[in-house]
Amino acid sequence: MTFATRFAPSPTGYLHRGHAFSALTAFDAARKSQGRFVLRIEDIDATRSRPEYEAAIFEDLAWLGLEWEQPVRRQSEHLADYQAAIEGLRERGLVYRCFRTRKELDIGRAPHEPAAPFVGAPLSADEEAARLERGEAFAWRLSLEAAREALGGFRGLTFVEEGAGPNGETGVIQARPELAGDIVLARKDVGVAYHLAVVLDDGLQAVTHVIRGQDLFEAAHIQRLLQALLSLPTPIYRHHRLLTGPDGRRYAKRDKAQTLRELRAAGVAPGQLRAEMDLT
Ligand code: GLU
Repeated sequence: MTFATRFAPSPTGYLHRGHAFSALTAFDAARKSQGRFVLRIEDIDATRSRPEYEAAIFEDLAWLGLEWEQPVRRQSEHLADYQAAIEGLRERGLVYRCFRTRKELDIGRAPHEPAAPFVGAPLSADEEAARLERGEAFAWRLSLEAAREALGGFRGLTFVEEGAGPNGETGVIQARPELAGDIVLARKDVGVAYHLAVVLDDGLQAVTHVIRGQDLFEAAHIQRLLQALLSLPTPIYRHHRLLTGPDGRRYAKRDKAQTLRELRAAGVAPGQLRAEMDLT
């Protein structure tokens, strides 16, 4: 299979140095293997995504010297595909409706504590019918228990990490999707959520290598499970280090001065950026 990798930004802000590092790392890898480089716009969150950020992504990446396949897949244009996948999982009893509000899920949690993995179960048919009748919104959650049963356990779920996770994880990794609990596959508001859209699109776009930041390493554990449930091939993973600024902190959307458009306006050249990132 032809080597194919992707850069999949969400158009919720301007790209910064960290994005440039990720996009260039993926692009260089595709070049080196004479493979495909795909740009995907992950804009399922309609409240946070903005067309001007998307336009800026194209502009900034072109300025960096990147070229990508056309047409660009924009996730917001494929919501029906994701819903069809949810429907398929529903028919197999792998997902259930969750009506809980964020507030209910947060009960007993201190503000600084991360949300504990949620594990639930479908409501009784009567209660569900009553809530649907009242027009209550619900999310679709993946049932870990049903998934475990469908696959005969999670032992067979491994993936190859050619880069490294945040704790140096590399090589053949045993996926541990149970650490995330029953994840939301379809949000109440948009009818799909990140993991499902990514896994379906990586499959559809024949991505062989997922090259992205270490901050998404844990996501591979969940995505591996979804690949198995959806009979999609598992790509090879290459999680890369996160670029940090002079203060030792990783770049984030809050670092306005480090956006690619600011750097460009300040007269920084793409070659200089590459050199500063040790990408030559
Ligand atoms: N859209 C995700 C983000 O901007 C990246 C998804 C991925 O690379 O799997 O953080």
